[in-house]
Amino acid sequence: MSRRAVFLDRDGVINRAVIRNGKPYPPIGPEEIEILPGVREALDQLKAAGFVLVVVSNQPDVARGMTDHETVEAINTRLAERLPLDDFRVCYHDGSDGCDCRKPKPGMLLAAARDHGIGLSTSFMVGDRWRDVGAGQTAGCKTLFIDYGYDERQPDTCDYRVKSLAEAAQIILSLDGGKGVPSFK
Ligand SMILES: [Mg+2]
Ligand SMILES: [Zn+2]
Repeated sequence: MSRRAVFLDRDGVINRAVIRNGKPYPPIGPEEIEILPGVREALDQLKAAGFVLVVVSNQPDVARGMTDHETVEAINTRLAERLPLDDFRVCYHDGSDGCDCRKPKPGMLLAAARDHGIGLSTSFMVGDRWRDVGAGQTAGCKTLFIDYGYDERQPDTCDYRVKSLAEAAQIILSLDGGKGVPSFK
């Protein structure tokens, strides 16, 4: 029997994104990390319900020369120390690299599903940008969009529109019904 996952975007979902010109950016470094309110409790509850918690993050500023792998990984390490996250998947590319991991491509979700024995149709993707929702949809997951009203392209559709990871977790757990089997499909 396959396991179920909650795939989580990082910046703006787990930690607070830095907003410039209405768009979200990653923290400059590990010292600037602020874990968002309710995230710790939400992840604890999802973990207790049996979900594999996988971070899937686009970090194109590495390819753009604005930050480096070490900084991205230092932030991930700091988050892993504080939160019950099972795995981190990072795309370091920019659109012109033509990789298969940059969201909205589903490569990071598909690879994690293979490695962890995750069933995608009973899993969820939570993100704050259209690329997150697109990756979740293409992978066959239910999608939850955290809408901060960024000044940028919005998702065409999503299964649920929420204000926080805490709210997303409550929806996921209510669908789960506490029985270990999602009530949809
Ligand atoms: Mg984000
Ligand atoms: Zn990539």
